[in-house]
Amino acid sequence: MLAFVFSLSQTSWRPIVSIIVAPTIANIPTIYALATDISPAGFVLHPLALAIGAWVLHRGVMRYGLLDNIPVVRDRVFNELSDPLVVVNHRGLLIDANLTGLKMLGMDRSDLSTRTIAQFLTSWPPEDLYRVGSAAEEATIGGQIYDIAFSSLDPLSEKADIMLVFRDVTVRRESERRLRKMQKELERLAHTDSLTGLYNRRIFMQRLEEEVERVSRHGSALSVLIFDLDFFKAINYTYGHDTGDIVLVAVGRVSTEVKRLSDVAARIGGEEFALLLPETDQQGAVQLAQRLRAAIEKNVYLSPSGAPVKVNSSIGVATATKGAKEVDKLFSPADKQLYRAKHNGRNRVCSTML
Ligand code: GH3
Ligand code: MG
Ligand code: MG
Repeated sequence: MLAFVFSLSQTSWRPIVSIIVAPTIANIPTIYALATDISPAGFVLHPLALAIGAWVLHRGVMRYGLLDNIPVVRDRVFNELSDPLVVVNHRGLLIDANLTGLKMLGMDRSDLSTRTIAQFLTSWPPEDLYRVGSAAEEATIGGQIYDIAFSSLDPLSEKADIMLVFRDVTVRRESERRLRKMQKELERLAHTDSLTGLYNRRIFMQRLEEEVERVSRHGSALSVLIFDLDFFKAINYTYGHDTGDIVLVAVGRVSTEVKRLSDVAARIGGEEFALLLPETDQQGAVQLAQRLRAAIEKNVYLSPSGAPVKVNSSIGVATATKGAKEVDKLFSPADKQLYRAKHNGRNRVCSTML
C-alpha cells in the first residue's frame, strides 16, 4: 500500500508524502483504541505502528531525500538559469556547470573534470580576481560573445573555487559594431567630396591650420599648391556637364597618384583643387607642381560618346619656412600665384616664397 502511495506521488513530492504518512501510521493504533474503548497503553500494535512509521520516515529521508529539499531547489535554480554558469577550481579545472553552461561549452556533465576553462578563454586567469575577489572579461566562445563575471567563492583564499557567470552580448556587440561603422561612414562623408572622393575644403583648411601651427613651432618647410582647370566652362559647354564630371574625377585621381602619401589632396571648389605638402621647400613643391601639370595634360579624358577631351591646368605654389602663423598667410599667396599663372597664359606653374 505504501509502495502504491509512493508510486503515485511525484518524485519531488515523496519526501512530503513520507512526512504526512509516517505519523499517521504511528497513530493508527491510538485512534483505533480510542474508537473501540481499548486502553491505548495496553495495545500491542503500538510498537509495530511506530516501527512502520519510523520506516516510512527513514525511506523519506534516505531514499527520497527529505533533508535534501533545499539543495534540490538550489539545483533547479542553478540548472534552469538562462545565463551559462560554470564553476572551476583555482587551477581552472571545470567542476560544475548548469545546462546552458554545458551547452555553451559543448560538453556533457561527465566531461567536466577532464577539461579546463583555459581551453575556452584566452583571458584565463583573470587579472584582479585574487586581489579584489571578482573580475570581468569579454570572450568569444562558439562564435558567441560573452561578458563574463568571475567571482571567487572564498575571497580570502587563493585556492578557492571560482564561479563564472556568462552573459551573451553578441546581439548588443553586433549593433554597436554596426553603429560604429555608420558613424565612421558619416564621418567619411563629412570629410570627403562626393564626386572625386578627395578631402573637401573644410578638412583641407583644418589640416592646413594644423601644419601651419607645426611649422610656426618647429620651423620646417610647408608648401601649398592650388590648381584650377583652364577653360573648364568651355569643356562643359562643348561636351556636356557629364564629361566635365568625368574630367574632375580623373584629375582627382591623377593628383592622388602624383602626390606623396603624407601630402593632403582636396577639391576645394568647382574645378579647383589643392595639395598640402608638409616638409616641402619651394623647389620640391614647384617640381611636384610641374609633374602634376604635365600629368593632367597627358592623361586621356573621354566623353561618354568617346570623344577625347584636352585638359590643362594652372598651378599656384606658396612655400613658408617660418613665421607662417596664420593659415591665410599661406593659402592667399598660393591663390595669388594661381591667378598669376592664369594671367600669364595658363597651363603653367607660378610660385612664391614667404
Ligand atoms: P579659367 O581658365 O579662367 O579657370 O576658365 P574657366 O572656364 O575654368 O573658368 P571658371 O573657373 O570660372 O569656371 C569654372 C566652371 O566649372 C564653372 C562651372 O560651371 C564648372 N563647374 C563647377 N563645378 C562643377 C562640377 O561639379 N561639375 C562640372 N561638370 N562643372 C563644374
Ligand atoms: Mg578654371
Ligand atoms: Mg575656377
